[in-house]
Amino acid sequence: MRFNIVTGGFEEVGSHAHKPAVIGSDRVLTWAQLQVEAEALAARITRLNLPLGEPVLIRGHKEADMVAAICACISLNRPYVPLDVVVPLERVRRIRSATGASLLIDHSPEAPADLAPITWSRAGESRSDQPMLSGLVPHRPHDPIRYIIFTSGSTGEPKGVRITREAAEAFLQWMTNDFGFTADDVFVNQAPFSFDLSVYELFTSLHMGATLLLNDAETAKDAPRFLERVRAFGGSVWVSTPTFAYLYLTDPGFTGALVPSIRNFLFCGEALPKATVQRLLERFPQARVLNTYGPTEATVATTLIDVSLDVLARYADMPVGFPKRDSVIRCTTPDGAIATKDAPGEIEIVGKHVSIGYLNNDALNAEKFFEADGWRGFRTGDYGWFQDGILFFTGRRDEQVKLNGFRIELGDIAACMLTAPGVADAIAVPLKSGDAVKRIVAFARPVPGTDESALIIALREHMQRGLPAYMVPADLMLVDAFPVNSSHKTDRQALIKMYLTRGRE
Ligand code: AMP
Repeated sequence: MRFNIVTGGFEEVGSHAHKPAVIGSDRVLTWAQLQVEAEALAARITRLNLPLGEPVLIRGHKEADMVAAICACISLNRPYVPLDVVVPLERVRRIRSATGASLLIDHSPEAPADLAPITWSRAGESRSDQPMLSGLVPHRPHDPIRYIIFTSGSTGEPKGVRITREAAEAFLQWMTNDFGFTADDVFVNQAPFSFDLSVYELFTSLHMGATLLLNDAETAKDAPRFLERVRAFGGSVWVSTPTFAYLYLTDPGFTGALVPSIRNFLFCGEALPKATVQRLLERFPQARVLNTYGPTEATVATTLIDVSLDVLARYADMPVGFPKRDSVIRCTTPDGAIATKDAPGEIEIVGKHVSIGYLNNDALNAEKFFEADGWRGFRTGDYGWFQDGILFFTGRRDEQVKLNGFRIELGDIAACMLTAPGVADAIAVPLKSGDAVKRIVAFARPVPGTDESALIIALREHMQRGLPAYMVPADLMLVDAFPVNSSHKTDRQALIKMYLTRGRE
């Protein structure tokens, strides 16, 4: 059996109705059970008679029922918005008003009732269900939105990336043809559903009729428990950020002998260090290491390369891969020359898998999205160049950073700080080791006369309420004034210097 993401229906391909479809953090759903749950939920959603195309919010943390809810929405051609519990409620409220969603399906232990007019909490109990309406036929417009994933926005408003059925189909064609995965694979999940890396294992395992192994944050932090789970369920495709695998590699026991079922490490979302690949290939001689690259705006990823020892030896830099067949990647310098390592250019992605744009954000859509030969294109803000037909990535042109694979706009953090009482000015600065961001430090200039010790505590709490945990700066420093450089901009290097030498004068 499988769940066809494109048609939105369950199909009997080779059967296996009793094979696990989803191993959630709470329980296991076989393919037959997943179908029953998803179809019951779809019928229930249909009876609500929600306006056509209105998204449904799905909140929780790796519960098997989250996947049933996702299948239900897809089967109704209704967009879903995945919200992991890592997204604080204040942000969920803003996302809810941006989407206009009236239904929240909440699988978390505490489902706040005020989040949406209709909230179905984890037990499936209806709190304020609307009257039942019958006889509804789900409308199937031309290219319905499959999901809307919200990413950090530089102005402080999260950006809703809309991915349609056509984009998902292009992505899945690539996944089923070029990655060598099969229905026998067990996909090991690490990322929260609100991060598009998770679409790799979620959509691929459903579409191929494989098995999805979900892992909650507590398990992922506990290496012996996590690895025992992977071993016990025969995890064969490890999908994570490179940072996550790197942390596991610090334990010398993390080897192919311990978890022999692993045949693939699939990475995306941030730079993959050569040392991580080298160690993985040494310790897991039976496994492939796949590096992929791409933004959420182009459905998970656009390039792929199997990083063998040979590839490692041939290139000084880590390649991010060959573009998928039905896409075009353009990489030119501002004066129109072909980008090179010494003169990289902005990476532009063109193809069916590109998003139709951010939700309700015409200005940004006009800036970032374009049309090329009837196809959709996206300006990534990443710099890169090609060598031997392979793309190499070399950094960004703006203030977007990656911390442990999570995408963060530094302006998003500053915007949150500026809404706290007593803050006159604020900035978030990344502390790097080489090109990798190690932590984010926040700097704030207090309104004169503010009690500084009280402000530090209040500001921390304010950020915890307003930002996902991974975006909350590791440290916070109050300053009397922001230093400026010769271009009359805030001098971030000077701020970092002040931070690193504080208390030493
Ligand atoms: P996200 O939308 O969260 O997937 O983040 C996309 C961004 O992560 C890209 O625009 C790049 O800046 C970065 N990124 C993704 N994959 C890679 C990779 N393999 N190597 C380096 N950076 C990457």
